[in-house]
Amino acid sequence: MPMNVTPVPALGERINHIRLLTARIVNEEILPFERLLTGRADQGSGPSAEEVRQRLRVRVTEAGLWAPHLPPEYGGAGLSFLEHAYMNEILAYSPIAARFFGVVAPNSGNQQILLRYGTAEQKRRWLVPLTEGRLESGFSMTEPEVAGSDPRAIRTTARREGDFWVINGHKWFTSNGKRADFLIVMCRTEDAGGPSERNGRMTQIIVPTDTPGVKIVRGIEVWGRESDHCEILYEDVRVPVENQLGGVGSGHEAAQVRLGAGRVYHCMNAVGHMWRAFDLMVERTTLREVHGGLLETRQFVQGFIADSYIDIQAARLMTIACAEKMDAGGDARTEISAIKVFVPAAFERVVDRAIQVWGAAGVSGDLPFWAMAQGARTLRLADGPDEVHRILIAKNVLAGAHAGQGWNFG
Ligand SMILES: Cc1cc2nc3c(=O)[nH]c(=O)nc-3n(C[C@H](O)[C@H](O)[C@H](O)COP(=O)(O)OP(=O)(O)OC[C@H]3O[C@@H](n4cnc5c(N)ncnc54)[C@H](O)[C@@H]3O)c2cc1C
Repeated sequence: MPMNVTPVPALGERINHIRLLTARIVNEEILPFERLLTGRADQGSGPSAEEVRQRLRVRVTEAGLWAPHLPPEYGGAGLSFLEHAYMNEILAYSPIAARFFGVVAPNSGNQQILLRYGTAEQKRRWLVPLTEGRLESGFSMTEPEVAGSDPRAIRTTARREGDFWVINGHKWFTSNGKRADFLIVMCRTEDAGGPSERNGRMTQIIVPTDTPGVKIVRGIEVWGRESDHCEILYEDVRVPVENQLGGVGSGHEAAQVRLGAGRVYHCMNAVGHMWRAFDLMVERTTLREVHGGLLETRQFVQGFIADSYIDIQAARLMTIACAEKMDAGGDARTEISAIKVFVPAAFERVVDRAIQVWGAAGVSGDLPFWAMAQGARTLRLADGPDEVHRILIAKNVLAGAHAGQGWNFG
């Protein structure tokens, strides 16, 4: 079933145009070929997967939608933050669409960090080829020995030796690690001349993966399958100081910039996935007969439809409100934490109901629910687990209360 998208009256012409254009490409060029593109179906009498990919590349480029998160001078579509957020819910209707629009984590987050903190030379050497698809990258922050929930606990060190940084540490869950040509590594910098307070000690450094001392130990099994989320050892890895991103000590701030926008994008993606799960679930209820009647006539199932509708609407509107506040330059930290808790949980509930309605087919490889269910569960701990975000929400609300203010909801 194609995605049903019409212009939203409250949105400007440009955002509506981008949404409709994206939906047309997703509906015409991706949905009918999803199984072919993921290697789950044979070509049959239609085009080959490669032909579909080529056609897609042309359509996306002609529509001016390649790399929506980057400015035109770096080969991107030059979309604003809000335009990109609104585009994501359409793109994510197909779980595989984003890659055909040149916006895939962790490359997209790294591109944004390079754009904001990179020198002209770093942009030339790393950002441009990354955008053109000639290089791959990873972001290496989390470590097995310390809690990823507390980014200040990082133990990996970068020691200054003349014109080099020498990196030693142990990371894991570095996504895209096996394919990456370079990694952006979060380090605790030991530099007598650098800032010494807790946040000021973190610095991000670009490390080409062929540098001696970089050891990809393994792709960690995730959900029972080998993955490209890698465990990596950094043993006396020497890179020139020019590979440092931003000033010494800017690493924590850069990570926050990346994660803040990233959480909104992830939540809009989750909305798109839910939208798809919802359409598939509703369609099935109108076709499947049980005990002499269609599923749609059963109140249990009507409850699934109603509750899923409510979950999606709530998740979508919360995310849009958060994105609008960020776009207007407001302090949206509480809103970001709120969507980071609410949206993945709503996503889990919606997919779970869709699986239930589809019965055994719901957990099969014929439908996208298995990946959605695992993705939704994973989202509840990646990019900051639920508990940490709940603590932040309460802290911000209580700070207002202690200042004698009630919370301002709007
Ligand atoms: C599929 C996947 C891809 C990933 N990709 C990357 C990547 O590319 N690069 C990267 O650097 N990292 C990546 N990560 C790692 C991810 O960011 C971390 O897993 C996450 O930040 C949580 O850190 P942790 O696993 O060390 O859990 P911990 O910090 O050990 O937390 C474990 C649990 O403790 C509880 N908890 C934590 N703090 C508190 C608290 N203050 N109060 C109460 N309870 C608390 C929570 O329930 C939490 O789930 C990825 C993870 C996954 C699963």
